Amino acid sequence: MFDLTGKVALVTGGNGGIGLGMATGLAQAGATVILAGRNAEKSADAAADLRTKGRLCDAVEADVTDEHEVAGMFQKLMVRHGRLDILVNNAGGTVRKPPHELSLEEWNSVMDTNLTSTFLCCRAAHALMKESGGGKIINIGSMLSIFGAPYAAVYGASKGGVVQFTRSIATAWAPDKIQANAVLPGWIDTDLTRGAREQVPGLNERVLARTPAGRWGVPADLGGIAVFLASSASDFVTGTAIPVDGGYSIS
Ligand code: NDP
Repeated sequence: MFDLTGKVALVTGGNGGIGLGMATGLAQAGATVILAGRNAEKSADAAADLRTKGRLCDAVEADVTDEHEVAGMFQKLMVRHGRLDILVNNAGGTVRKPPHELSLEEWNSVMDTNLTSTFLCCRAAHALMKESGGGKIINIGSMLSIFGAPYAAVYGASKGGVVQFTRSIATAWAPDKIQANAVLPGWIDTDLTRGAREQVPGLNERVLARTPAGRWGVPADLGGIAVFLASSASDFVTGTAIPVDGGYSIS
């Protein structure tokens, strides 16, 4: 039920953090994973590391905010691997500022990275998945898809948008046998949140106090949900937004 042998998965931002945690899970379940990111060296290193562990892995350089680079990324994937079964839209970033201090450039940059990239990749994937008879899309939201925070106005707007966009494509593409779901990670220890821990006083203590699991997550905590949502085990699951948060959102 969870076997992904023969499946091809593209993970944006797959060269580190949560993306690499999910890519590793998918590869362990048998998928060929393609790690996409702007930093070609980081992507090549991550892919080489997975291959030394016996996994099937490739890397492609792309800025997913750029429509032409997104088209080129899918073109390369099809030339090298011939199919696309699973798309994980994980590339993301933030600017931590109160809303009234955000410039339009900062607003657009976060919206482009988190939300517009998801639209561009989903649109490109839809054509390929429809043609091959179906597929799985996993979009990465956040606790800030649900909650607000004074330093996360544009990030929260983008991640709320990711969830609503996911619901719409789930309805639009259900007849094409494409399931689309969002994953809402809790507080996961990555480069992104290491920055937040440095910039937001008391964040570390607040996260630990509120998370019933009593710890920060690690990227490997996201491997299982990726396999579930990418496999036939989730064929009747679509349009959901699933927290993977050690209980943060229910406490
Ligand atoms: P990281 O900073 O470790 O990873 C971000 C990834 O996104 C990198 O691999 C980066 O690769 C890629 N990326 C950023 N911009 C672009 C771009 N324009 N084109 C292609 N790739 C890009 O962060 P996390 O692993 O923490 O975050 C991954 C996702 O999870 C994000 O969407 C984030 O919002 C979300 N998230 C994280 C949480 C956490 O606690 N860590 C909690 C909730 C959600 P490169 O630099 O090579 O481009």
